[in-house]
Amino acid sequence: MNKAATGPLGGAPLGIFGGTFDPVHLGHLRLAEEACDCLALAGVRWIPAGQPAHRETPSVGAASRLAMVQLAIAGNARFSLDSAEVSSAQPSYTVPTLARLRGEDECGRERPLVLLLGADAFAGLPGWHEWQRLLTLAHIAVAHRPGFPIDARTLPPALAEVFRERYRTSPEALGESPAGSIVSFAMTALDISATQIRKLLSNNGSARYLLPDAVIEHIRHEHLYRRN
Ligand code: ATP
Repeated sequence: MNKAATGPLGGAPLGIFGGTFDPVHLGHLRLAEEACDCLALAGVRWIPAGQPAHRETPSVGAASRLAMVQLAIAGNARFSLDSAEVSSAQPSYTVPTLARLRGEDECGRERPLVLLLGADAFAGLPGWHEWQRLLTLAHIAVAHRPGFPIDARTLPPALAEVFRERYRTSPEALGESPAGSIVSFAMTALDISATQIRKLLSNNGSARYLLPDAVIEHIRHEHLYRRN
């Protein structure tokens, strides 16, 4: 990843992108790439979940999902991979992960961290472990996702209140403090989901052009997502 210039607040904002990535697809890649440009991020750290705490067990193991993300982001100097959640025996929770990053030299206590979420994941935040602490550790940037409007009137009440209080219209807010603001950004609308890809693959369908060729090749080689 490009080393951000060390400036005010410990450097340019760094994006943090977690997910099950089961498998990683072009929706994820465009989200991270467009977040860099729209939000002036120094880069994005990808953090695949090991055993995600707030959803069902992924269909392929953590090591395979990590390998697929590694293949997908290879060659992109703005992207880096963090395998800590995959390597941990504990369930993956975002708050302890952000607290760990705050203890690292690259992030420190002052650098703005920006948790990247699709609009569906954002609406589900109240189900996350200690979700109200998230904004003490990072900002949140919500990416538009087809089928999931970003609208306080449709959010769970506790989240709607936080959204109204913390929402900022300008991404410049991200550079003004280490944490605490919510912004949104319009990415190229890609109605792609890992669920759709798993279904296609289990029916021997083609997932070509929905995810990188290198990932498709890995899936084929490792016989992943096949119906037994
Ligand atoms: P699944 O279908 O298994 O639920 P997914 O495609 O939503 O998976 P995740 O790994 O759960 O992928 O998503 C990681 C993050 O990427 C989440 O914040 C999610 O909202 C976001 N995301 C995934 N796909 C898209 C997309 N097509 N457009 C915008 N955001 C997306």
